Amino acid sequence: MDFIEVKNRIEENKEEYMETFLSLLRQPSISSTNYGIEDCAELLKTIMERAGIDVKVMPTDGSPVVYGEVIHPDNNFTILFYGHYDVQPADPLESWISPPFEPTIRNGRVYARGAGDNKGQLLAHILAVKTLLDTYGKLPINVKFLYDGEEENSSLNFEPFVRNNKTLLKADVVYTADGPMDPSGKPMVLLGNRGMLYIKMRAKGASHDNHSGNKGGIAPNPAWKLIHLLNTMVTPEGKVLIDGFYDDIRKPTKEESSILRNLPFDPIETAKVVGVDKIDLDAETYYGRIAMQPTFNINGLYSGYTEDGQKTIIPSTATVTIDMRLAADQNPEKIYSKIVEHINVHAPDIEIEKMGSTKPSRTSVNLEVVQTILGAVRDSYEQEPIILPAIGATMPGYVFTDILAQPAVLVPYANADEDNHAPNENMDIDCYYKGIQTSCKVLMDLGEKYTENGTRRKIEIGKV
Ligand SMILES: [Zn+2]
Repeated sequence: MDFIEVKNRIEENKEEYMETFLSLLRQPSISSTNYGIEDCAELLKTIMERAGIDVKVMPTDGSPVVYGEVIHPDNNFTILFYGHYDVQPADPLESWISPPFEPTIRNGRVYARGAGDNKGQLLAHILAVKTLLDTYGKLPINVKFLYDGEEENSSLNFEPFVRNNKTLLKADVVYTADGPMDPSGKPMVLLGNRGMLYIKMRAKGASHDNHSGNKGGIAPNPAWKLIHLLNTMVTPEGKVLIDGFYDDIRKPTKEESSILRNLPFDPIETAKVVGVDKIDLDAETYYGRIAMQPTFNINGLYSGYTEDGQKTIIPSTATVTIDMRLAADQNPEKIYSKIVEHINVHAPDIEIEKMGSTKPSRTSVNLEVVQTILGAVRDSYEQEPIILPAIGATMPGYVFTDILAQPAVLVPYANADEDNHAPNENMDIDCYYKGIQTSCKVLMDLGEKYTENGTRRKIEIGKV
C-alpha cells in the first residue's frame, strides 16, 4: 500500500466524504434526552455498511452500541476503534449562528452540534477503512469499531457492555480520536489518565448543636475530631500518611520521564493560569505531579455556623469531602480499604462513605505498537507529535486497559477551538480530511509491522 496513492484517493473522494459528514450531523443524537439516538445509530450503521463494514446495532439498558468489523482470517492483528455517536444538548440555541442540526460551512469549518465531538472524528476511521478497501480491496489488519451512544451522558451502560462482550471486542490495541488538538496545531498522542476516588467523612458530636458557654467543656466538638484525623492523613508538605497509599504506583519509564522533561512548560504563564504567585517546579516535576502522582484533595470542609456575625455553638457534626486522583496501578478499592483501616486506628467513630471511583489507565510509550502509531501520526501530520503519558483528569480509559487488557491510544483529530459542548461547535475541514488520512496511515503502518505477506507473526504487546 502506498500513502501517496491513499492521499490521492481521499482527495478524489472529498466531496462524498463531506456529504457523509453532513448527513450524520443532520441527524440529532442527544443522549441525555434520548433525542434521535436510535435513528442516529441506524444511520451510522448504514454509513458503515456503505464503507464495507459488517455492522450490528446492539442494545444496552440505555443507548445502543454500534459495533462493526472487517475481519480477514489472514490478518493477525486487530485494532479496535472507539468513538461515540451521541452529542451534548445544543442549548443555548440563541447563541448559535446557524442551527445546531443544520450543518453549515463557513471559514473552512463545518458548524454543527457533534461536528468535532465526536462525529467528524469517528467518521475518520470508517472513511479510512472505505478508502483502503476502495483502493486495494482489502485491509492490512483487522478492524473493529465500537461506537458508544451515551458518552455524553456518563456512559452508564458502556462498562457493563464491554465486560459482557470481551470476546467480541478482543483486539491488540484500542484507538480513539476525540477531543481537540494542541493549540499549536501539533498532533497529540495521549496514553493515559488518572483515576479517582471520592470519599466523604463525617464526625459526630452531641445529638444536636449546643450552647458553647453553657455546655462548653462538656459537649465534644466533632470539627476538632475531624481536623485531628485529617492531620494524621497528610503532612503539611502534602505527603499522604495512609499506610500503603503509594505502594502500587507505577514508576515512569526512562522514556516517559524524558517526555515529561521536554514538554513545553512556562512556569510564569502557568502560575497566571493557576492564579498563584509562582510555580517553583521544572517541567518534569510539574507534569510528573499531574500525570504520574496521586493527590489527596479536600473539596469541602464544613461544620457549625459559617454565616456572618456570631453564633456561639458547639457543632454536632463536621464533614469533609476528599477526592484523590490516582496514578497508574493504584486501585481505588484497595486505597479505600486502606483509608478505612487508617480511620479504624485513629478515629474509629468517624463515618466514611465512598461516593465514587474510577480506575486509572496508562499505556506505556515503550510498547512497539505505540511506537508504530506514533510514527504513523508523525508521518501523517508531518510534525513531531506531543506525547502525554497521562493526563491529570479522569476518563474511563480503564475500560480498555483494565477490562479488555489492551493498550489504549488517544489521538485528537479536531481543531483546538472546536468548541465542543458549546454553541457553534465546529470542525476544521482540513482537520477532518487529515483525520481520515491519519487513520489510513495507522492501519497501513500497523499492517506493515504485524502482517508479513499474510503470514502470522508473533505480537509482543507487553505490559499496558
Ligand atoms: Zn464530549
